[in-house]
Amino acid sequence: MDTAVFARWIGEIAAAVRADKDRLTRLDAAIGDADHGANLERGFDAVVRALADDSPDTPGALLGLVGNTLIRRVGGASGPLYGTAFREAGKALGDARTVSTADLARALEAGLAGVRRLGGAAEGDKTMVDAIAPAVRALAEAVRDGSGQREALGAAASAALAGAEATIPMRAGKGRASYLGPRSVGHEDPGAASAALVFAALCAAEA
Ligand code: ADP
Ligand code: MG
Ligand code: MG
Repeated sequence: MDTAVFARWIGEIAAAVRADKDRLTRLDAAIGDADHGANLERGFDAVVRALADDSPDTPGALLGLVGNTLIRRVGGASGPLYGTAFREAGKALGDARTVSTADLARALEAGLAGVRRLGGAAEGDKTMVDAIAPAVRALAEAVRDGSGQREALGAAASAALAGAEATIPMRAGKGRASYLGPRSVGHEDPGAASAALVFAALCAAEA
């Protein structure tokens, strides 16, 4: 995968966030403050503009710019968390011009580690970690099994979607939803839902 694939990934995320903005907002209205769709739309619109202005020439530099822009432009919890994920993933890629599926798996592991460090959430806390962690695991497993790139990214996207759906019966342990205690049960976590979009977009970008 070269820089163009990563640029496509980000464009696909921006489009998916725009298309699903109302659903993300509805999910956040149920257990948060109804701004997740708007937060991500503002963030990824700014990212698309930043990439158009700057056109970074490696995947690592591109992800670094994505991360910094999200941290700067998104007020909510999700901005610094997603921003850190992209920034750490970019750092892990270094200045390589092309990225293998194995490189990407390692980079996304670094991104997940960044989210965990910053937010302190474990799996089961009903956050974006519940979608990202199984997706990163599925990707690493697919690489170990020698799967092709398309199959590996498909497995990651399916795992993210299943992980997001699995947050419905969970009780939130982190973030705004945790203030609701047991009333957070029965709703999908908005950040887990958006993380599933991010992995689906990666699949679409590779195709
Ligand atoms: P805010 O809660 O500040 O309004 P958003 O609505 O944009 O921010 O994002 C909320 C999402 O952020 C949650 O659904 C959850 O997935 C994620 N989140 C919140 N706190 C944490 C945390 N400590 N660790 C991981 N993810 C978190
Ligand atoms: Mg919110
Ligand atoms: Mg908010």
